[in-house]
Amino acid sequence: MSEALLRVENVSKSFGGVIANHAISIEVPDGAIVGLIGPNGSGKTTLFNSIVGYHPIDEGSIRFRGREISKLLVPQIARQGLLRTFQQTRIYGQMTCVQNMLISMPQRSSSLSAMFGGFPEGAMDKVDALLEFVGLYSKRTLFAGDLSFGQQKLLEFAMALMNEPKLLLLDEPTAGINPTLINGLIDRLKKANEEFGITLLVIEHNMRVIMNLAEHLYCLAHGEMLASGTPVEVQDDERVIAAYLGA
Ligand code: ADP
Repeated sequence: MSEALLRVENVSKSFGGVIANHAISIEVPDGAIVGLIGPNGSGKTTLFNSIVGYHPIDEGSIRFRGREISKLLVPQIARQGLLRTFQQTRIYGQMTCVQNMLISMPQRSSSLSAMFGGFPEGAMDKVDALLEFVGLYSKRTLFAGDLSFGQQKLLEFAMALMNEPKLLLLDEPTAGINPTLINGLIDRLKKANEEFGITLLVIEHNMRVIMNLAEHLYCLAHGEMLASGTPVEVQDDERVIAAYLGA
């Protein structure tokens, strides 16, 4: 069997007496879109944080591109092409969309100098192309703080794309987004996957979105893996239905 792009094996993480993740295993094949669902407090964010190196894990193994990354720090993991976005966006409201894009570039020193002096070659073309891709080109000179919440999430997505990640972890990409814009966002996520070759692991509460987007789903409940399979299999699983209904 070929090595998955991301392989999480038997990962456990507790906070004091709270077991946030217990012996969790997931696999994300190269090029896939995989969904992570589960009721509030089921451990999804903890798993994301463990994968990107935000906190050490208690037990288990996390392999990315065949290499153990569970002992590495956030920037070391990011440099290997593994990034995440946040449910609450992390943009700089007092900076323009273009400036936010420039400071998100991997070469921090050159991107800072880009803000105050010359631009790294090709950087502005990339900024413009990605702002166009997420539908924000016409807002490029606006302060990010003046965008709607949905537009800020699109900006954060474009900022992540500046780094050309191999694997992008998306934390509730459609939360807070106007329902009329959700289909457009799904199309962009699929396009980023198909055309830019970015593998996606997505936490999403909106079942319609995740059913449409993901080819494989994992469902957590109370820090444990409750079910995994195709979206239809997981959606029809009685344990999943019970977990969502609080049974
Ligand atoms: P989800 O993202 O599915 O809503 P979380 O991973 O945020 O779930 O939380 C799982 C459990 O771990 C919850 O009981 C939560 O209160 C607890 N938890 C998460 N992060 C921390 C933390 N930093 N300190 C203490 N408890 C935490």
